Amino acid sequence: MVPDNSLFIGGRWIAPTDRETVPVVNPATGATIGSIVDGEQSDVDAAFAAARDALPGWSATSPGNRADLLDSLADTIHDHADELAVLASTEIGMPIAESRAGQAALPEAVLRSTADIARSMKWEYLDASGSTVIREPVGVVLGITPWNFPVHQIVAKLAPALAAGCTIVLKPAELTPLNALFLAGLCATAGIPSGVVNVVTGRGSTTGEKLVRSTDYDLVSFTGSLAVGRHIGSVAGDRVVRATLELGGKSPAVVADDADLEIAVRTTVKNCFTNAGQKCNAPTRLIVPEIDRARATEIAVSAARDYVLGDPLDAATTMGPLASPAQRDKVLGYVAGARSRGATVSGGEPLHGLFVRPAIITDVAEDDPVARDEIFGPVLVILGHRGDADAMRIANDTPYGLSAEVWSSDVVRASNLARQIKAGQIRINGVRTPQPPIAPFGGYKASGLGRELGPFALDEYLEVKAVLGNHVSGEE
Ligand code: NAD
Repeated sequence: MVPDNSLFIGGRWIAPTDRETVPVVNPATGATIGSIVDGEQSDVDAAFAAARDALPGWSATSPGNRADLLDSLADTIHDHADELAVLASTEIGMPIAESRAGQAALPEAVLRSTADIARSMKWEYLDASGSTVIREPVGVVLGITPWNFPVHQIVAKLAPALAAGCTIVLKPAELTPLNALFLAGLCATAGIPSGVVNVVTGRGSTTGEKLVRSTDYDLVSFTGSLAVGRHIGSVAGDRVVRATLELGGKSPAVVADDADLEIAVRTTVKNCFTNAGQKCNAPTRLIVPEIDRARATEIAVSAARDYVLGDPLDAATTMGPLASPAQRDKVLGYVAGARSRGATVSGGEPLHGLFVRPAIITDVAEDDPVARDEIFGPVLVILGHRGDADAMRIANDTPYGLSAEVWSSDVVRASNLARQIKAGQIRINGVRTPQPPIAPFGGYKASGLGRELGPFALDEYLEVKAVLGNHVSGEE
């Protein structure tokens, strides 16, 4: 269903013959599983032209019809859930159960919930002053996504963009382009009109940069690293086009002294090591009462030892490889650095290929790089606190603010702690994993600008117009 070296533009597979190609590699085996073209300026121009041409027709479609097409895409994803999950596991090395939940079931749920939001939204209404308030699509969207949750991250942009009446040009990560192309094919199967969804593949520094430098889009929605997000935000800011940025994290899991330590630690280990820790909202800093730190470390080390590393398509595997040699080297570098500074490290050993045993690290300073930087791998750092106020100080002492976890047997205390943490999404006592499809997701501070999922996501893709004076309503 995904032809090699093809782009999806204007509803057609385009296979340019004079482009550099980039192999797509299965990180578990090192085998090449496909290849993509590095999109050139003419591909970028063609994709934006297709999206611009499709915009008037798509934005004139009623919100109800657009919602029906999102449901149709959800149905199509449902029908192809196994293929999507296997492709995600093959491209990224994610254990198959995680792929099924996060790269097929969650995108399907996001599409359905976004369709419902679109149906119930007030697209046009009279306010108390007698002015008509109209919601209109922003226009052509550029969506740039990373590799770690390849289908979910695309659908988190595609669903609200399409519901709003926008058209979109997607640039998936070069490590996971096949998912994006497969999804583009599903969009066509679902009946989404030609040109509404377009995919241009390629590297970030080449194709991505050309897309971002184009003047043909009205909004850029980016998910990825802080460094690239800053760059894209500044290009967009210069041109005064909207940018939503979903960036990194160094999320805390705060355990109060009345929490069930065993459950809190085991759940945090599980949430931290999903997708081998390559998860922007992974709780990578476990902050426990200092008096319990040794016990918490023992529990975490024992939970980490239980991980079965192996073939991501084998149902018995609980952790796959890291996504690329660069990811593996980064993780090993951080672990070695912590060890050289006197930290106590359990695990973190390289195995064959891109497999690395999960690491539990303690006896580190709060400002040690392993406790401050986003490592994006299977590394959990355990820090001690001396009471709730101290725990809040440590939790908030980070440039990031994407998510957090709070553990306490007292719901009032847990709620108070949740309110004090500067982060976009807080889980209390480990509930609500995985991500509910409509709970807003996004960052405070350097974790980004804007929100994905739920009604707030739609707002990112909408302009608001007030018409003052006599006006003929366009509502159906
Ligand atoms: P990355 O920033 O290197 O790449 C993300 C995307 O941007 C890729 O498609 C890449 O090709 C593209 N890109 C790179 N340079 C570009 C440029 N100059 N111009 C245009 N596009 C460019 O990030 P990554 O390594 O793919 O993903 C990991 C990062 O993503 C982590 O920091 C992680 O926290 C973050 N992330 C955030 C969220 C969130 O929702 N907040 C979710 C997942 C991942």
